[in-house]
Amino acid sequence: MIKQALISVSDKTGVLDFARALSAMGVNILSTGGTAKLLLENGVAVTEVADYTGFPEMLDGRVKTLHPKVHGGILARRDFPEHMAKLDEHGIPTIDLVVVNLYPFQATVAKDECTLDDAIENIDIGGPAMLRSAAKNHKDVIVICDPSDYGVVLAEMKTTDNSPGYVSYETRFNLAKKVYAHTAAYDGAITNYLSSLGPDRQHATRGAYPQTLNVHFEKVQDMRYGENPHQTAAFYRDTTAVEGALANYRQLQGKELSYNNIADADAAWECVKSLGGMDQPAACVIVKHANPCGVALGGSAVEAYSRALQTDPTSAFGGIIAFNVPVDGAAASELVKLFVEVLIAPSFTDEAKQIMSAKQNVRLLEIPLGNGVNPMDFKRVGGGLLVQSADAKNVLLADTRVVTKKQPTPQQLADLMFAWKVAKFVKSNAIVFCGNNMTLGVGAGQMSRIDSARIASIKAQNAGLTLAGSVVASDAFFPFRDGLDVVVDAGATCVIQPGGSMRDQEVIDAADERGVVMLYTGTRHFRH
Ligand code: 5GP
Repeated sequence: MIKQALISVSDKTGVLDFARALSAMGVNILSTGGTAKLLLENGVAVTEVADYTGFPEMLDGRVKTLHPKVHGGILARRDFPEHMAKLDEHGIPTIDLVVVNLYPFQATVAKDECTLDDAIENIDIGGPAMLRSAAKNHKDVIVICDPSDYGVVLAEMKTTDNSPGYVSYETRFNLAKKVYAHTAAYDGAITNYLSSLGPDRQHATRGAYPQTLNVHFEKVQDMRYGENPHQTAAFYRDTTAVEGALANYRQLQGKELSYNNIADADAAWECVKSLGGMDQPAACVIVKHANPCGVALGGSAVEAYSRALQTDPTSAFGGIIAFNVPVDGAAASELVKLFVEVLIAPSFTDEAKQIMSAKQNVRLLEIPLGNGVNPMDFKRVGGGLLVQSADAKNVLLADTRVVTKKQPTPQQLADLMFAWKVAKFVKSNAIVFCGNNMTLGVGAGQMSRIDSARIASIKAQNAGLTLAGSVVASDAFFPFRDGLDVVVDAGATCVIQPGGSMRDQEVIDAADERGVVMLYTGTRHFRH
């Protein structure tokens, strides 16, 4: 039974309604300065903690709730007579509900102008202490650090017939777990910030990697197994994941996602997003084993899909398919004919959902496109972690330069840029032939660039696609002219590559000799 609650929040979202509801249930409310003011102004009766303890808030708010009358009331074990006798002896009532969210440290240090002093003043002391006290004593105390939990707690308090104001142990335990995750992330953010301060110890160096890296992940799901059936696995979401990140998916139907599904879905989703938002032409990416095996633009989702499928219909079997536009009935009517593992789109129309429901195993994932970039990219190595910024660089036409005598036509330029965007998502060494905004042949993951080029052209042949007059992208430079000769022999008339090899001149001369166009991007996109 909740008789007394302490509410002290920086983020005041929803707190007024919550406090009103508590008050209506006869709960006595204690509160700190700013929170008390808000509640009082809105007609909710509260007692200020300062009046309650007999000590004023002091030291610019550094000391507000750090008092035995607060912490004793939270930490006393209700089933320990000695504890309860101590409270009686000192006139300390119990505090049964603690509602605290912390000074916005992360938001403060994210600001460019933030100094060490600003950051320090935003390190909450009493808040984490109360959260930790209440979470420790969750057997008897309910603790809320996230406004989105007000509803759950209220609902439980209201619905329990025989014991009004009761919140189940399960909920109390879950809320306590959440608190320790929250305070750990908070302290982690403080450590990250302090250890990325520059030599002046006043400003954090932007993009600096802290001495100790604290990153917080929360579990999205367990998986039946990992990359192989003898491996165990789970999927975690970065608590700072940006909008549009795969981890923010909503599954509409289908079997549980597997480890490989998630890895491939990420490759497909990141690639299709790079081809533009919903205001752009429809784009479709088909991925198999982490590599795009067909990518195309089209006037509609169905057209983009049919074109993407042409590149490599054999590999597309059992593939993962992503769209940058809503999937409608027309697209679903075609998609339903192929054996597909996962379909991803910003949305599915009702008709599309209805059609896909015939294939209940197909996983449908809805993800808003978003335009955020995950700040860090991780790769596990034995005993360590490689961390880098995500490859967020998008080469624009203006960044490129033609290095050959022959100049491209506008259509060739468009195709070259399309091929370049796709090559960024193909495992190195990547060679991607394209024409008319679709892939014609993809060579991926070979140890030699020439082999990737050969494979790409064989694959085009297998699919009955001609490479005559095609464009080709190479994710990194051609170290010798031989790679260029292979792609030109296959039919390419335009090449896009980063440039930067010792033998650039040899390759440019070869391009001129063969009468093809070549563009340099100045940017490499290795992907391993
Ligand atoms: P209010 O806006 O009510 O004045 O302050 C609410 C904030 O104060 C909450 O974020 C809470 O975590 C924090 N807080 C509560 N008690 C203390 C304390 O004793 N010391 C510090 N530094 N912060 C506190």
